[in-house]
Amino acid sequence: MSEPNKMSAVAEPGRQIPEAASHAPVKAPKPRTPAPVTAFGCPRNFLDNRFVYVTVSARARGLSVGVNMNPDRMCNFDCVYCDVDRRAPFPKHPLDVSIMSAELHRTLVFVLSGQIRLQPPYNGLPAELLELRHVALSGDGEPSICPNFTDAVQSVVHVRAKGAFPFFKIVLLTNGTGLDLPPVEQSLKLLTESDEIWVKLDAGSQAFMDRVNRPQATLKKVLANIVKLGRHRPVVIQSLFPLLNGEPPAAEDIGEYLERLKELKAAGAMIPLVQVYSPTRPMAQAQCGHLPLKVLSDIAKQIRAHTGLHAEVF
Ligand code: SF4
Repeated sequence: MSEPNKMSAVAEPGRQIPEAASHAPVKAPKPRTPAPVTAFGCPRNFLDNRFVYVTVSARARGLSVGVNMNPDRMCNFDCVYCDVDRRAPFPKHPLDVSIMSAELHRTLVFVLSGQIRLQPPYNGLPAELLELRHVALSGDGEPSICPNFTDAVQSVVHVRAKGAFPFFKIVLLTNGTGLDLPPVEQSLKLLTESDEIWVKLDAGSQAFMDRVNRPQATLKKVLANIVKLGRHRPVVIQSLFPLLNGEPPAAEDIGEYLERLKELKAAGAMIPLVQVYSPTRPMAQAQCGHLPLKVLSDIAKQIRAHTGLHAEVF
């Protein structure tokens, strides 16, 4: 839902970074290489931060600044393709919102002042890939079960509302299970129409979901949450299809998935885009692999043909 009052308090799109920000009044973080990896398969670089990272992401179409909402790696899914290694001891400390906020500010300075373009490995990339596309609420688990989700969203919105930076889009990446939690529903009202919610939907049946996502939630709940939210604001669907034990998804699994997309649309969910992709980063589970581009393209083609939704392969 848009919030006109808040919109008026933020910097307009295209606004230049103020002198104070562009000259980096806070010490810019140092990049570390090689970059670590993310839950969604894109390289991340935490610089000198604990909670805020940068990544160049295909689905972001460029540079994403991310907030790791789950440094404790808590997730109610256990996806077979997840690259978060939960066999290692879990960090005990959850997200510290005040530290995250300070990190977000200095990382935005680092990115928007152009300092990032001078640093390896970014100095070899085309300038358009280093333009900030959004600030993502994502991480090593499911953001909506972050214990201080509300404080974190408020804090990111506050960094934007202070107007020290050009307007940036906020994107929540979620598996959809917590979208009906009252604190989450309330927090999402802080977002503007420019912000986006990306919801994971990899399966069209509980059996396939149990095989791929191994969730502590039902497909029915995820679908209901997508409909509930999607009737009020657009929801981008993220669908990851892995090669499982050397096999692509069976035709009937894709068929059921297409039916669920069709039902979501028929129920009134606004779905501007279905992102189709496959894991690209090293995964914790060896039985997973990357689907050939041809298979992904064929799935996207079927989505367009059967549902009329816009689908792209990433
Ligand atoms: S939803 Fe799946 S891929 Fe994302 S963090 Fe949880 S287990 Fe990993």
